[in-house]
Amino acid sequence: MRAGEGGFTHRPAHALPTYTWDHVSGITLLGDAAHLMPPSDVGANLVLLDGADLAQALVTEDTIDEAVRAYEVMMRRHWAAAAHSAAQAMARLLPDPACRRWPS
Ligand SMILES: Cc1cc2nc3c(=O)[nH]c(=O)nc-3n(C[C@H](O)[C@H](O)[C@H](O)COP(=O)(O)OP(=O)(O)OC[C@H]3O[C@@H](n4cnc5c(N)ncnc54)[C@H](O)[C@@H]3O)c2cc1C
Repeated sequence: MRAGEGGFTHRPAHALPTYTWDHVSGITLLGDAAHLMPPSDVGANLVLLDGADLAQALVTEDTIDEAVRAYEVMMRRHWAAAAHSAAQAMARLLPDPACRRWPS
């Protein structure tokens, strides 16, 4: 940082709360658009898992709509587990709740 050309810039980290949405035929979300995690080394892994889940559903379900519904169930299951462990990790790293803007 001392060798840098500019000064220190504080950039806040954001996360989405765990939420759900009603299925809409023909559209879905994956990756950070669906589940923006606190910075705890899981975001990119979840994106890859979403892609694998969606691909698996597309080859096993009879219709695209059924595949998207099945994907959304799998995605939410993985997301809930990751969100729980991410919240625990962030609580250890930043014990003061005032430092965390995401729900724990
Ligand atoms: C500082 C930092 C460190 C991280 N470290 C880790 C880590 O160590 N391990 C880990 O697993 N995860 C980590 N993550 C999280 C990881 O980077 C994200 O979870 C992952 O990149 C999300 O992938 P994505 O494809 O969903 O979204 P993104 O990677 O954000 O891709 C979305 C793309 O869409 C583009 N885009 C946006 N709007 C439009 C538009 N209107 N039209 C066209 N294109 C558009 C954007 O430019 C972008 O290229 C880190 C994130 C940050 C910010």
